[in-house]
Amino acid sequence: MNKISVIGSGYVGLVVGTCLADMGNMVICADNNENKIDELNKGNIPIYETGIKEMIKQNAGMGRLRFTTDTEEAVKESDILFIAVGTPPLEDGSADIQHVLGVSRDIGRYMEGYRLIVIKSTVPIGTGQKVKETVRCVLNERGADDPFDVVSNPEFLREGSAVYDFTHTDRIVLGVETPKAERLMMEIYEGQARNGVPFLITNIETAELIKYGANAFLAMKITFINELAQLCEKVGADVLPLARGIGMDKRIGPDFLRPGPGYGGSCFPKDTRAIVKTGRDYGVDLSLIRQTIEANERQKLWAVRKIKDAMGVLEGKTLGVLGITFKAETDDMREAPSLVILQELAKEGARLNIYDPQGEKEGRWRLESIKESTEFCTDEYDAAKEADALVVLTDWAQFQTMDVDQIFAAMKGNYFFDFRNIFDRSLMEKKGFLYFGTGR
Ligand code: NAD
Repeated sequence: MNKISVIGSGYVGLVVGTCLADMGNMVICADNNENKIDELNKGNIPIYETGIKEMIKQNAGMGRLRFTTDTEEAVKESDILFIAVGTPPLEDGSADIQHVLGVSRDIGRYMEGYRLIVIKSTVPIGTGQKVKETVRCVLNERGADDPFDVVSNPEFLREGSAVYDFTHTDRIVLGVETPKAERLMMEIYEGQARNGVPFLITNIETAELIKYGANAFLAMKITFINELAQLCEKVGADVLPLARGIGMDKRIGPDFLRPGPGYGGSCFPKDTRAIVKTGRDYGVDLSLIRQTIEANERQKLWAVRKIKDAMGVLEGKTLGVLGITFKAETDDMREAPSLVILQELAKEGARLNIYDPQGEKEGRWRLESIKESTEFCTDEYDAAKEADALVVLTDWAQFQTMDVDQIFAAMKGNYFFDFRNIFDRSLMEKKGFLYFGTGR
């Protein structure tokens, strides 16, 4: 049983901390957001993530998981310290590592005896070394020379299936510098090793870059099929069998070949921009990733144009919008394509009746600037009421099982824009909809 503190209890830290507690460790989840910790201590979970609520309740109940705003306590009481704070984008695209370095200073200030410092946050190349220097510098200031190791252990979980992903990950990447750090990390992940999860041991810089490389590649793969979907519509091809045909090639694989209104979320947009900036800093033009970022911005506007081309003037029209989160099974709205798409539609004069199973709370403030044009609805049928068109932006499973007859009856018009291809064209046309899929 290890004593572990996870500093930063957001989407990643909370999942990682809870899963580590569930594996039998004594875990403290720390965060400097008092409100968040208060809510967690009351049993209220700040994020929507399948399975997490029950796991937190169970592990907190068994005394293996607790929450605090006190970083000093977290650093003093645990010998393994995971850093999982945010690394938001700066104006120039680079990742802001001030929170990572702030936590590093706290670690240097409060640590007593050996500490293993594990960087979970996605951080630019060189951050591991900066963390090391920062901790050492603060230790020097207080005349201490307690030993420590820094490990880069990037996280690959996906929001929506984060708990599953943590325990069944495709690989665990460990950027280490000493045999002791490697041994301790292998002990922490003993359960995953028993499950057959492969480990990749590298130096810190390579581990840091693997995370960016993986995210940039996935963003590129989505963008690739998005652009092919546009071509499909022009030449009469169907993107679904096309994607299957491409993905059946083992060298390519079927995942991330589903077209949509552009990628979003807290990782792909920021990580692609950050790696391009890193490339620039080192004189390397990562042109493919640069193009991916631009094509993804165009994809959102392409979605808007598609609606306008079909419906003509949008002034005074009502659009029912189903789904605004960047993907299903999460409440996360960070850089969701809907934010751009809905603002553009509002600019054209459309009224937007929005329904999202989990996105309303975030959506309300993120769409504040167009609040005169938007209304949040109680369900799919409410959003469809008197609408000229329905626009599906997120593929929540519950949309697939909604009663389309009831939707049709509630609407004034019959336009149906299915940007996630979750409905069958012939069925929708039979029901009377003017159906627009994506790339079909
Ligand atoms: P988040 O914004 O949800 O959570 C970060 C948390 O850190 C917040 O609760 C914030 O209050 C806290 N924090 C900030 N500074 C702090 C400090 N000095 N002391 C204590 N707490 C502090 O972010 P997230 O989505 O969990 O992402 C965290 C990191 O993990 C980022 O680097 C991100 O790129 C990476 N990551 C995210 C995902 C994902 O799907 N969200 C997946 C893999 C990696």
